[in-house]
Amino acid sequence: MEKVIIIRYAEIHLKGKNRGYFERVFTVNLERAMRGLRHELQRTSGRYLLAGFDEARAEEICLRVSRVFGVHSYSLGYRVPNDLDSVYEAAKLVCPDRGSFKVVTHRADKKYPMTSMELSAHIGGRLLSGAPALRVDVHAPEHTVYLDFRENGTALVFGTFEHGAGGMPVGTSGKGLLLISGGIDSPVAGYMMAKRGMNVELLHFHSYPYTNDGAKEKVKELARILSRYSLSARLTTLNVAHIQEQIHAVCAAELNVTLLRRFMYRLAEILARETGAKCLLTGESLGQVASQTIEGITSSDAVVTLPVLRPLIGFDKDEIIALAKKIGTYETSVLPYEDCCTVFLPEYPAIKPKLSFIEEEEKKLDVEALVKEALSTKEVVEL
Ligand code: ATP
Ligand code: MG
Repeated sequence: MEKVIIIRYAEIHLKGKNRGYFERVFTVNLERAMRGLRHELQRTSGRYLLAGFDEARAEEICLRVSRVFGVHSYSLGYRVPNDLDSVYEAAKLVCPDRGSFKVVTHRADKKYPMTSMELSAHIGGRLLSGAPALRVDVHAPEHTVYLDFRENGTALVFGTFEHGAGGMPVGTSGKGLLLISGGIDSPVAGYMMAKRGMNVELLHFHSYPYTNDGAKEKVKELARILSRYSLSARLTTLNVAHIQEQIHAVCAAELNVTLLRRFMYRLAEILARETGAKCLLTGESLGQVASQTIEGITSSDAVVTLPVLRPLIGFDKDEIIALAKKIGTYETSVLPYEDCCTVFLPEYPAIKPKLSFIEEEEKKLDVEALVKEALSTKEVVEL
């Protein structure tokens, strides 16, 4: 008897002629998630089987599988020879000894001498006689024992279906560049785009010496957490302190944030083109703060030609926080730190800045020189 994990994939089956491509990427991602752990990954009809692993580490392996996008569900179970005694021994292990249960059998091996119904009845009967506190309930059982008779003389036996991360294999939806702050929202935004199959690269702006190393460390930690979900483990940082100083010195105070955002977008677009990213990603949510009104968003979009995707645009803060907790970034995001945006935060930021006013104020700056200087501060951290 051998412990195995049965992995079913999510939307890949929808992709028609591209199915082979989606499966190849999915396989690579599963292999990558298993890196450093002994295992064998096998394709069987319509699903994957993970075997040959150290059974003491089954829980860790399940956790890793649960984070791979494209996994619809997975089950930890047993692979046994398909004789009735072996199947029964495994069924005993996955079926609790009290409560209601039923047995569901799938028979891929159509030559097997018993039908699915007969197999369910046989194994169910033996489980019943072995455990007096069990009873059968075929309509709403507390436990279900699944038997899957394969064509190669083996049977898979399992008792649970765990939800996978869903979504599509990372790498099947091109590449995007995430503007990641140390806040709650942008890490969640990155997770959501990776979930839709996007390769997500990370860019962070800091304001050294106004912000300290703590802020950068925090973003690195967020990037580390996100890399579990196949987001890039490479973080690019740029210093924008000189830009903030200039804006602060010569422009209308209420436009500080708006003008800084426009620089961030410009810089992000330049780096996106360098790395082959086809869009920018942000954690903005409509109306959440002054710079995230439709006017604010319009003024940022006006300086770039790449599309800017904002997966959280229609989310409430509560919903974003719930997701941040689920993916494990929340605890890090709420650690206190100075974001570069808070350093020169005006008392009353403009809520509906007019593009003509913004452009007028921006003329007071040497945009090109400021951009160039920021690019010269580029650092790349491999996590
Ligand atoms: P977050 O929780 O992601 O920081 P927020 O609600 O604090 O978002 P803002 O600070 O207005 O909102 O930032 C809006 C978006 O701009 C962020 O989601 C992020 O994508 C980007 N952004 C803001 N600050 C930075 C930064 N220092 N480096 C990179 N991107 C940033
Ligand atoms: Mg923020």
